[in-house]
Amino acid sequence: MSKLIILGSASAVPDDAHENSHLVLKGDNDIVLIDCNGRPLVNLKQVGINFKTVSDMILTHFHPDHVGAVPQFMMASWLAGRSMPLRIYGLHHCLQRVEDLMMAFHWDEWPGFFPVAFHHLPEREGVRVLDNTDFSISASPVRHYVPTIGLRVTVNANGFVFAYSSDTVPCPETVRLAKGADLLIHEATGDEPLGHSSAAQAGAIAREAGAKRLGLIHYNVWGTESTHLIEEAKHPFGGPVFLCEDFMEIPLSNTEEFPGAT
Ligand SMILES: [Zn+2]
Repeated sequence: MSKLIILGSASAVPDDAHENSHLVLKGDNDIVLIDCNGRPLVNLKQVGINFKTVSDMILTHFHPDHVGAVPQFMMASWLAGRSMPLRIYGLHHCLQRVEDLMMAFHWDEWPGFFPVAFHHLPEREGVRVLDNTDFSISASPVRHYVPTIGLRVTVNANGFVFAYSSDTVPCPETVRLAKGADLLIHEATGDEPLGHSSAAQAGAIAREAGAKRLGLIHYNVWGTESTHLIEEAKHPFGGPVFLCEDFMEIPLSNTEEFPGAT
């Protein structure tokens, strides 16, 4: 059965219990990493995934709390003897900078490096990212400080739909991305007019989209308490809300119980 595993749930400032937000889709055959920050190699190991088996990596936008660990991921994979190709997907704005970052490390001179293919996604709604055995994934631009994509993932085996807002203000693009989704994971950094959303705004977006469940992610943890966010989102949403926590495993199936969902 396919799962979504939360590898990190914090906004840009992590603490000892919360890494920066990044996720992994674990199918029966395919492993897709969504953003690469914090300690992805260690976190993947903790949830029983060998980082060498990640076939695809989707980068939502070029901010350090979303792509900061890409060079380390590359170097560790190379040193661990990876030979399997890696496919990386994102907007041109992001991938061009990731390639520049890798060039700053002279990765073109690392001998015997495994094949890496960059897939530059057009900046338009509903663009196809990838189709593999387990998942069909599309992306839409959302509204953040820099060009950013949200994701819509369909589980091929059962039709379950999971949408991920990434970092964004409340916007109609996210509503369309999450239309009728079984699960929406929406950021809840706080009400910042230019780049983020509050928990209440995430709840309103989930309601407008007709999502069945809402998980809050990318919330502030440094010196602050976050459990009140659930109530804040519940009121406008009216459906089950939970707070994503690091290492939470979420079944991508309507026949399984959702951890923490109330
Ligand atoms: Zn962020």
